[in-house]
Amino acid sequence: MGSSEHGTLAVLGGAPVRGPEKAWPSWPQFDDAERAALLGVLESGKWFYGDRVAAFEGEWAAFQGARHCVTANSGTTALEIVLQALGIGPGDEVIVPPFTFVATASAVLRVGARPVFADLDHTWCLDPDRVAEALTPRTKAIMPVHFGGRFCDMDRLCDLAADAGIPIIEDACHAWGGHWKGKGAGTVGKCGVFSFQQSKNITAGEGGAIVTDDDALAAMCRSLTNCGRAAGMPWYHHENPGTNVRLTEFQAALLSCQLARLEEQTLRRERNAMILNNGLGAVEGLIPQPKSNRITRRAYHLFCLRVDEEAFGCTRAQFLAAANAEGWPVAAVYPLPLYEQPLFRKLGGYEGVRCPVAEDLCRRSGTWTTHEKLLGTEEDMGDIVRIAEKIKASAAALRASDL
Ligand SMILES: *Cc1c(COP(=O)(O)O)cnc(C)c1O
Repeated sequence: MGSSEHGTLAVLGGAPVRGPEKAWPSWPQFDDAERAALLGVLESGKWFYGDRVAAFEGEWAAFQGARHCVTANSGTTALEIVLQALGIGPGDEVIVPPFTFVATASAVLRVGARPVFADLDHTWCLDPDRVAEALTPRTKAIMPVHFGGRFCDMDRLCDLAADAGIPIIEDACHAWGGHWKGKGAGTVGKCGVFSFQQSKNITAGEGGAIVTDDDALAAMCRSLTNCGRAAGMPWYHHENPGTNVRLTEFQAALLSCQLARLEEQTLRRERNAMILNNGLGAVEGLIPQPKSNRITRRAYHLFCLRVDEEAFGCTRAQFLAAANAEGWPVAAVYPLPLYEQPLFRKLGGYEGVRCPVAEDLCRRSGTWTTHEKLLGTEEDMGDIVRIAEKIKASAAALRASDL
């Protein structure tokens, strides 16, 4: 295919594949269900931590296939609570990936423990071999991130954790509705944490949740999120050094409405992502996250795509400029692996850390397309594939350009 067949790239002065008249789905999505639910809470006069929070917790536990769900006011605080509930603190280490939102690692710092970074493999998730190397007698938990919604090799990670006698805390903040061999995200390890922040696939603006099958862990998380209270005890009875990170009834009511759409949306994203996996995966130099038949339902928070600059024929920056000009909103990933953030530079002790796979994603190859695009039509997905093919056909012209 030559550039003549596809036409001149929009970024070089040609007509875009997709003009502004074709809008992408917006996010968040809502309708009269959310309007009625919010008004219902308002008029009920019960605005904090009541039946609607309890109802959503039941719904979320059932959706993920867990015995318990304890909500919190964010994914970040949910991570902190679960670490504290597991007794992790000063002197302890927790293995985390360096390629994730900062909260995965900062939650470990907030409980006084030390995050230890292990590199990724080709899945964009923790590499079990690197985790094995990072284990020490001080390691108290492994915290994988199912990046973009893709599980890491949970079989190998669970074996490693079992051998070490430590829990796996799944940072499932991208994996709502995802299944590993039929088990819901957050139930493969000891527990899992979710975020309901505005950008996430189910949202109340802010919010978070912990799921687990462990009765005692759930009770401790419940207590710590609610001022150290204990079930069945008087309101001013406090047993643990808890905090207040409770959800409001407004948030819970919104989340129940959003959850009613999540399954259909999850399946739609998965179907659309399959079109992208096939179409983009066929373009030399573009590499989507790999599939696995052990992932029995794939959540997509991000459509992650690597641009191999050599094989594709231009730089990632040129690719991104061209794709956006053609009407495909796609972006570069996190600029730095977490250990290069000022936070860790100031802390010290991370100067020697090297995670080449994560560094390559940050510095050279990683791109992501956010999940609401995957709620579009098959035609929308076809546009993305055509844009990639068009850029590929003009990669040499792009490389030689000033972009
Ligand atoms: C969003 C996110 C969090 C934190 O969730 P908040 O609700 O924003 O505090 C943690 N880990 C990952 C991987 C996330 O994407």
